[in-house]
Formats: sequence, C-alpha cells, structure tokens
Amino acid sequence: MTPGAAVVPVLAYHRIGVPPAGALHPDTYVHPRAFARQLLILKALGYQAIAPADYARLRLGLPCAVPRKPILITFDDGSSTVFSEALPLLRRHGFSAALFMVASRLGRSAVWDGEAEDADHRQLTAGELRALRSEGWVIGSHSVTHARMTSLTPERRADELIQSKKTLEAAVGAELDWFAYPYGAFDSGLRDAVSRAGYRIAFATEDGDGDLFSVPRRIIGGRAGLFKFLRRLHQAGRLARK
Ligand SMILES: [Zn+2]
Repeated sequence: MTPGAAVVPVLAYHRIGVPPAGALHPDTYVHPRAFARQLLILKALGYQAIAPADYARLRLGLPCAVPRKPILITFDDGSSTVFSEALPLLRRHGFSAALFMVASRLGRSAVWDGEAEDADHRQLTAGELRALRSEGWVIGSHSVTHARMTSLTPERRADELIQSKKTLEAAVGAELDWFAYPYGAFDSGLRDAVSRAGYRIAFATEDGDGDLFSVPRRIIGGRAGLFKFLRRLHQAGRLARK
C-alpha cells in the first residue's frame, strides 16, 4: 500500500446462494440472508463501498473519491448468483463491486480443469456482465480456464491472460485491465506476465504482497457466522496495511 494512502480492506466472495445437494465446494456459497446481514454490519460499522474505478485510481495515485471508511467488495469466478442475489442487495446499500470472470464459461456451467464443479450452476452471460458494468461495477479477468497458473508454461500463462482479456473485452464492449489469480496463486514471473498482458491491477488472496499486482483479499466463505465475519473483516483490514 502506498504510504499515506487510504487503507481499503478487500473482501472476496464467490457465490451468493444455498449450496445444492452434493455441491463439491459448499464453502463457496454464502447464504443470501447471511450476505444481507454482512452488508448491514458493514453499514453499521460505517463502511462504504469504494467504487471499483476509484479504487484503481487510488492505487495508481490518481485523483479519486474515497469514502471515509472504504471497503472493496469483489466476486471471483462469475456465478450467475452474483447477478440474481448479490446485485439487488448491494444496490440497496448503494454499493458496487468488482467481478472476476472465467472467460471460457460465459453463460455456461462452472467447470474448471476438466473437472465438473457443480456443473448445473450457470455462470454470468455477456449481457449480465454489461448490466453490472452499467451499475458501476468493474469486470475483470479470472483467466480463460481457471487453471492454477503458477504450474503453466510461460506460453500458456500468456494465453490465459491475453485470450481472457480479448474475450471479455468483446463481451462487455470495453477495455478491461483488472485480473484475479485463480486459487490466488501467483509468483513473480506471473506477476510480470500480468503486467505485460496489459492489466493494471491484479488481486491475490491472503498471500498477496500488497503491491499493485498482488493485492491481498480476505475470502468470505459460506459458514461465516457473525463472529467469524467480524474476524475476517478485521483480517481484511490487516491485509490492506501490507
Ligand atoms: Zn476462482
């Protein structure tokens, strides 16, 4: 974090909904009621969502509007529940967010690495991404295939970065320069590749170093009761001071 700049905790969600029976990763679902409660807690604690575009400007040292107690909310993968469940709740509080989309799964089921992950669960369509964008959301890339990119060759890394950027730019009809590492996995070579591919900011998870290409985020998983959520929020604040 730039010395003197506002500290902005960053939260990372995946899906807002009830996990279907047999879900492989039930912890990626936050119940809509729990999510609504978390937003009320944020509000009660005085947090206001910083507009994602302002967050980028803040990190780049450009003029921007920063709330008194800012927080950035992000979603990884591109579940359609972000549109159906999260958007109306966030809108109610005047919050916008950032969404990192797996480019090969537009409007299709979530299948990573050849392995079915809750295959009946639809991902966002291009139209839904455009609708989010029109409400002040930033759409970023989360690679083409959701591969663990640290185990890929330099050529495949570049492919994941460049092809996803192209596909998603065509889908939303705008330039796209935010990236989130699948599984939060990055290394110094990958960080350079992200920058070379034309991205301006990249998000990791708890292991992020705090610079522009590995912004740390605290994942908010499914079984987060009130106490757990408050603890994770506190951890997010600590990560933001890195
Ligand atoms: Zn992911």
